[in-house]
Amino acid sequence: MRLLLAEDDLGIAEYTRTKLEAEGFIVEHMTSGPEVWAEGETGDYNAIILDLGLPGMDGLSILKRWRAAGLDTPILVLTARGSWMERVDGFDAGADDYLPKPFRSEELVARLRALLRRAGGRPKSVVTAGRFVLDDLARRVTYDGQALELTPLEFRLLALMIAEPGRVFDPLQIARHVQGRDDDQARNAVEAMIGRIRRKTDADAIETRRGFGYVLLDDKP
Ligand code: CA
Repeated sequence: MRLLLAEDDLGIAEYTRTKLEAEGFIVEHMTSGPEVWAEGETGDYNAIILDLGLPGMDGLSILKRWRAAGLDTPILVLTARGSWMERVDGFDAGADDYLPKPFRSEELVARLRALLRRAGGRPKSVVTAGRFVLDDLARRVTYDGQALELTPLEFRLLALMIAEPGRVFDPLQIARHVQGRDDDQARNAVEAMIGRIRRKTDADAIETRRGFGYVLLDDKP
């Protein structure tokens, strides 16, 4: 499940991103209005979390443009506390749900899941990449049809890479996603995890691009 998180308050964004990633979501975070507008329209997201007060272009304008362009991605709007006008305007502009700040991460996750269920009947939880099949809801990964025994961190690492086959991930980028930190220790842990996943699958299930990072390819038979 890929989410676009559009929030220019870095404290709220970091808190939200950490909680969402712990729930298994893949989160792209952006702060600038024009960037959010372009990315939301072209990127492939299961849902978008949109703060209305963004620099450069406000959230309501972005939302109206998206809907006018036919974007049907579920959108949850974040509003300032007690601002019922923002809520009404948000729904008018095409928001699917709203959440006033400050909010608890548990409520955000519950609302997102409800939104995804309503949008797709059931959330699209099964993703295939090469010989890997990941079932997000069951928190299970198979390789050539065989279920893998994974730790939660190994699962998060694979979920990140299976969502974007062909993309080379820097070890620090993986560490930040999987462990929430990107120091040398976390980087070493990522390398150890990749080694363990290879032993559970194949030596070339995850390839090394020397000097760049790791990639999981989609073109395996
Ligand atoms: Ca804001």
